[in-house]
Amino acid sequence: MATPPLTLTKRQPFGPEALENCATALASGSLSSVNGPFTTRLETEFAAFYGARHGVAASSGTAVIHTAVAALRLEPGTEVIVGAITDAGSVVPLLYEGLIPVFCDLDEHLGMTVANVEAVLTERTGAIMLIHLFGGASDSEGLRRLADERGIILLEDCSQAHATRRGDSYVGTYGHIGMFSMQQSKHMTSGDGGVAITDDDELAARMRLFRDKGWERGTPHARAYPHLGLNYRLTELQSAVALPQLATLPGVISRRRELAARLDAKLQGLPGVSVWQPPEGGEASYWCYPILIDPEHRDAVAARLGEFGLPISPGYVGAPIFECLSATREQVTFGTSGYPFTLAPEGFSYADVAVPGARDALARIIVFWMHEAMTDDEIDAVGDIVAGACQDVVA
Ligand SMILES: *Cc1c(COP(=O)(O)O)cnc(C)c1O
Repeated sequence: MATPPLTLTKRQPFGPEALENCATALASGSLSSVNGPFTTRLETEFAAFYGARHGVAASSGTAVIHTAVAALRLEPGTEVIVGAITDAGSVVPLLYEGLIPVFCDLDEHLGMTVANVEAVLTERTGAIMLIHLFGGASDSEGLRRLADERGIILLEDCSQAHATRRGDSYVGTYGHIGMFSMQQSKHMTSGDGGVAITDDDELAARMRLFRDKGWERGTPHARAYPHLGLNYRLTELQSAVALPQLATLPGVISRRRELAARLDAKLQGLPGVSVWQPPEGGEASYWCYPILIDPEHRDAVAARLGEFGLPISPGYVGAPIFECLSATREQVTFGTSGYPFTLAPEGFSYADVAVPGARDALARIIVFWMHEAMTDDEIDAVGDIVAGACQDVVA
């Protein structure tokens, strides 16, 4: 018997103000972000939202991460510790900067912990890239303390954790630089785009150079490019669309938290299900809602949910990120050079990286693409569908 698909309200992050701003930008005859009023405002207001001194926008989350990493000017061969489950955008910029990604395990909350980072820390470590996976706020303050003790850098990849509190501050403000993607699926979006925040004047200045070809504009004679860089500039249209969302963002987060609590209550105690407990000490902003199913039943439950047309991704990225990328798995990088792994210790490989916590999580997860536009009734219906699937498959 065919199952009627569940109709879920579509997300519409772009309101009338975005349209108005776009019209203003178009009417101005210039969409370049160089001295563009919308991009300047976006950078200023984004930084102010988080209480940071500087905001630097770039054309994607990956671009903003690359911009942040490049601004650190770490020596090639330096190791950077990254959580084992993340988007490729956290990892690829490291390789382009000649750095060696080293992966740490996650705990049962899908968080990065001081203990798991310490387990892979070496004298070659120059930075930690903290991933706030699915909007759960990992131990930013503990990892900042560790970074300071070791004299290394803490970067926070908040692509999945916009406006996510930990203690009195938002994640992204604990690190030397906080990085946010505005890709279509993120809490705040311009289709593509990203913003980095920092309190460090020098890092901000280098990031501004890097995303603008390294160009120090306004020099009197020949052009000056004091930093190696790329063109990762955002355009005014993207900034025009992103800007109004700073005002709606807190509502987006609180609505997602509300819906997650509702779904938690529905899933509590179901056979084969565990409810995700985000890292302690922080609030989760639910970039998605991870349903955790006993590994032996996960695929069968996912197939059931798929029959109802639920927007899901079983296993999220499917494997620890270093197994997804041939650049790490097979060290296929620049030609046949193997760079930057030629700078790593003899015999370096990702083949035997032990991340049992991350693997266990990947085997359990069904990502449900929950968002703020869904209604209480829709979430209740999703909960009932999950309950039905678990009764059928597990019990
Ligand atoms: C989305 C995302 C990125 C990359 O962002 P893009 O804007 O898609 O380039 C990086 N890291 C994490 C954790 C992400 O979720």
